[in-house]
Amino acid sequence: MANLILGKIRASIGRLKGHVSEAKANAREDLRERQAAEKSPRSIILTKNEVQGEWDASRVLMTTMGGQVRPITTSDLAQFRHNMKLAQRNFNGDGITARQVIDLAASRPMPGSGPETDLDRAKKQITMAVPASAMNGQIRFITNAGPDSDVNRHHVLVRFNAFAEAANRLMSSKARDSKTPKQMANWLRKQKLAFDCDCGRHRYWFRYISTIGNFNAGRKEMGFPKIRNPNLKGVACKHVLRVMAEVESSGTVLNFLAKHMEKLHASKDNTAKHNARQADIDKQKASATRIKTSDQRAAERARAREKKAIHDAAKKVKRIARKPVATRKIEAALESGQLSASDLAVLRKFNMTDKQIAAKLGGS
Ligand SMILES: [Zn+2]
Repeated sequence: MANLILGKIRASIGRLKGHVSEAKANAREDLRERQAAEKSPRSIILTKNEVQGEWDASRVLMTTMGGQVRPITTSDLAQFRHNMKLAQRNFNGDGITARQVIDLAASRPMPGSGPETDLDRAKKQITMAVPASAMNGQIRFITNAGPDSDVNRHHVLVRFNAFAEAANRLMSSKARDSKTPKQMANWLRKQKLAFDCDCGRHRYWFRYISTIGNFNAGRKEMGFPKIRNPNLKGVACKHVLRVMAEVESSGTVLNFLAKHMEKLHASKDNTAKHNARQADIDKQKASATRIKTSDQRAAERARAREKKAIHDAAKKVKRIARKPVATRKIEAALESGQLSASDLAVLRKFNMTDKQIAAKLGGS
């Protein structure tokens, strides 16, 4: 009961106090609803075994594959399995990097037809994503909710899979070494991770993908998204995408992770736990990192290279700028024999400038 009430409280967006219990209450409620849905005699969940072909033909379940709502057939199940294989090809091993999440959201967007992708929405609507607390490589982020949401914030959980490796590497650096924890933080944020979000988009569209891709940090979802996402497009909701951009390139997250690594470095048993300060969160609320895909980064690098090339070329031109007219005239006269080197030396002895000498040469 207490949790239910807690879950319903509309906490102010950036309020740190109580964020962990709020996130946990949301996760418990999600689990309760999911279990009830599967237990119900009218359950419409398409289970793992059914997708694998153990299909009761008398069961009527619907799909939107092909664009219209219609009953599922056994050939759909084969297509679903095929879609799973296609989606899984994009992932390998344990987890996914923040960069991969952004790139996949750009290259396999969901929806394919609508004007706005999750990436577009992340850029436009999610303006805040702050790390609130960290415990042994699991970071809880708070983001604002989109304009049409019935809540005012979301909780995104990110689990850095290489935390144990970071801990072991830190063991060999000196106690007072303050550089290494920051370097480890910068390394860690580029490694593979898993994530979870408490929004409906993650729950109904993407949780299944993160489960079969092995980058799911929350409840596993074994029910195939036959209505919402039968083609298994996309990878993450707008909240997760915003968080991934922050993980990848914001100074705030780097500093937060560095602090976490410092605690880990100083701990006796390779564990670490720390919270952000409310004042820091209030400071960061307004600033969001730009979300860039690898393609955009490459384009920016190419533009920078081009700009530098133009700049370098301009500098070179300046260096070999043509000599003054008078000097060139003298050189031509020397070449043609109109002027001898010894005569020139004499004229120079009289402190004549090139301009004066050229004037004496006259003509062309
Ligand atoms: Zn979300």
